[in-house]
Amino acid sequence: MNKVTLGSTGMHVNRLIFGTLPLGPLQANLSAAEGGALIRHALESGITMLDTAELYGTYPHIREALSGFTGEVRIASKTHATTASEARSHVEKALKELAIDRLDIVHIHGARLADPCSDRAEVLEELLMMKQEGKLRHVGISSHYIAAFRAATSRPEIDVVHPLINRTGMGIMDGSAEEMAEAIACCSKNGKGVYAMKALAGGNLISEARASIRYVLGLPGVDALALGMLSREEIDANLKLCSLDEADEEIWGLLEKRRRKFKIMEKFCKGCGACVDACTAQALVLENGIATVKEEECILCGYCAAACPEFLIRVV
Ligand code: SF4
Ligand code: SF4
Repeated sequence: MNKVTLGSTGMHVNRLIFGTLPLGPLQANLSAAEGGALIRHALESGITMLDTAELYGTYPHIREALSGFTGEVRIASKTHATTASEARSHVEKALKELAIDRLDIVHIHGARLADPCSDRAEVLEELLMMKQEGKLRHVGISSHYIAAFRAATSRPEIDVVHPLINRTGMGIMDGSAEEMAEAIACCSKNGKGVYAMKALAGGNLISEARASIRYVLGLPGVDALALGMLSREEIDANLKLCSLDEADEEIWGLLEKRRRKFKIMEKFCKGCGACVDACTAQALVLENGIATVKEEECILCGYCAAACPEFLIRVV
């Protein structure tokens, strides 16, 4: 399979990165064995990098997939920590639960942050210190804000960026897809590795998946793309599309008919509003004390599910 170099990091990766979010408790809630088997299939088929986060709850799935695997694999995780000590504990937890010595990338997980490097300056300092200690290779940022990537262009300490972009611009907090594309190109020109997220807007663009994936991979400066995948057929089809630009009409006809759904068990909702605060897309409101989703705004990211103390939300 063709590989690309992720910016100036020297890392060579397949253009398709396995986004592990949908495997975990925020979405499909697969067991470690089920999710691990899917990741392992992806690794054996040519995927070389996995994307996860402290929030995703998918370290057990990845550990399962890596057990006995001798091939090449890169792992990127993210910390939503607000303090240095919390960031350190997130990284150390990842190393322990994944049973590895070093993470390849750790991002400041800043979906709602317009300038993660400034807003999480203490966390950035700590990540840079852990880089020196050999606990991680590269520091990155992930965000839904164009401003975050404009600011990152002049931050030499940021090696990799993980921006949200799709054809419709759905989920971008402060502008259009074209403006995000400009910021991405600028990051790439400044030597940052770029791998994109939400090319399918969390599933909202599934009916136009091929065109949506090709759009993102065709943008100047985009090295690779993280996609969440829940079946072997999906992995195989996405690998062919992303690595070889090949798409079997019959298989994609079926894949583009899939639908994902936001589910909330409203009758148990306590109306605490934690999910509303956690939503990056302003897609949740409290109506008569019950959380209610505006489906046209929802990018099916599942972050609200992590915030609900009653475990009432799931994206399936
Ligand atoms: S409602 Fe939940 S799943 Fe939808 S965009 Fe907001 S946080 Fe993401
Ligand atoms: S976080 Fe859970 S309990 Fe609180 S408002 Fe949202 S759905 Fe209801």
